[in-house]
Amino acid sequence: MYKNLWSNGYKEVAEFPDYTFDEHFGQPTPTFAPRAVLKDYLEGRMIRKSDKDLKNFIEFSTVVRWIKFDDLTKKYTVTVNNLKMGETREEMFTHIVVAVGIYNTPFILDIPGMDKFNGRLFHSHDFRDATEFKGQKVLLIGSGYSGEDIALQLMKFGATKISLSYKSVPKNATCIMPQEIEEKPLVIKLDAKKAYFIDGTKEEFDSVILCTGYRNYFPFLESRFRIPEETHFYPPGLYMGALFFKEGNNTLFYVGVQILFYSFTYFEALAVWTCRYIMGNLKGEPKTLKEMEDDSNIWMKRAESIKSETEGLHFQTDHIDTLVEKSEYEYPLTKVKTLMHEWIKVRKEGLGLTRYRDHVVKSPFTGFKGLKQKPFMENFDDSLEAFLNVASSDDISIA
Ligand SMILES: Cc1cc2nc3c(=O)[nH]c(=O)nc-3n(C[C@H](O)[C@H](O)[C@H](O)COP(=O)(O)OP(=O)(O)OC[C@H]3O[C@@H](n4cnc5c(N)ncnc54)[C@H](O)[C@@H]3O)c2cc1C
Repeated sequence: MYKNLWSNGYKEVAEFPDYTFDEHFGQPTPTFAPRAVLKDYLEGRMIRKSDKDLKNFIEFSTVVRWIKFDDLTKKYTVTVNNLKMGETREEMFTHIVVAVGIYNTPFILDIPGMDKFNGRLFHSHDFRDATEFKGQKVLLIGSGYSGEDIALQLMKFGATKISLSYKSVPKNATCIMPQEIEEKPLVIKLDAKKAYFIDGTKEEFDSVILCTGYRNYFPFLESRFRIPEETHFYPPGLYMGALFFKEGNNTLFYVGVQILFYSFTYFEALAVWTCRYIMGNLKGEPKTLKEMEDDSNIWMKRAESIKSETEGLHFQTDHIDTLVEKSEYEYPLTKVKTLMHEWIKVRKEGLGLTRYRDHVVKSPFTGFKGLKQKPFMENFDDSLEAFLNVASSDDISIA
């Protein structure tokens, strides 16, 4: 995460129906939120919506180093390392939920000549502050959400040239791009100063940032419990996108290992399904191994055919729908889904990359519209205080 990072999604999509942003802050707030706001909101729900202080159930500053499953006792021995106490110990568990996220291990491309480049070259995982690149010519390799957002940060904080290299489809196919961000095709080679592109052009750069995504990596799991490294809309080996059915007697779960559109909304659905499964509260469960494999194969096949943002969104909406239906969890997803489609449209046909964060939408749960704040490209204050200190509520037209 970097300084001045704002959510790229509507807070109204991330909102929990049982604990809205308005309830948390006690006032209406803008639609797009910076990091501090989302952290405050998540902590608020955890503390205020629980009858117990959930923090008492969590051991902080403690790393899971190794998890071993005993096929006879069907229990896990977990080796943990408490960093504050400097102590390593083992504990036994009947179930494991892997929720360490999928943004820990960068996927580093091997580009010929990259070892010869004289400027800064690093992965977006290590990007911290766009002001470091003021006055620089910067090449971003990879035009996913990291690439586009860092390009925007560089534009906002004064890089002189920003080039965004795409693999197969230019970003302007899905989003109106500002002319300050130049789109370039695949980089085939680097040397001390220049990047060479597949269309035969070459250019000099001061810095190169690899926005090439991440790899699933779970070093604390025995290899038989690991899902494949490639990130996916529906990783293989998971029933309902959560239960690892290949080993472990249906007691190991992954929550949040999918390529995301919805984030909080999806995590919530996966987490509720997982909890209810572990508690034995789901109708029609457990399934046989064959039933789980068949079900998983259907989702996986569909995931593999996804070719556009809209298809990805439909897929994830259907999966969340299935999770909430099976969990008998009331979640009015239809209303949230409409907002997601609006988000795609605003970027592609309306305000585009530089201004989509100036759009405001209504909360599906409170009916109140987000407040208009200072335009994103002119807003250099990402504090919680500034976010709460917004008065006007005029909408910005997407046309
Ligand atoms: C640059 C960037 C921008 C993003 N922007 C947005 C956005 O605008 N909107 C949005 O909704 N989402 C966004 N996301 C995605 C969002 O941040 C993730 O989806 C979300 O943080 C995932 O939550 P998580 O709890 O699964 O994992 P994380 O938030 O990554 O939390 C995992 C936790 O597990 C801990 N951990 C890891 N290994 C171990 C171990 N061995 N033992 C113990 N603990 C361990 C980590 O320290 C961490 O605290 C963004 C992500 C990135 C990288």
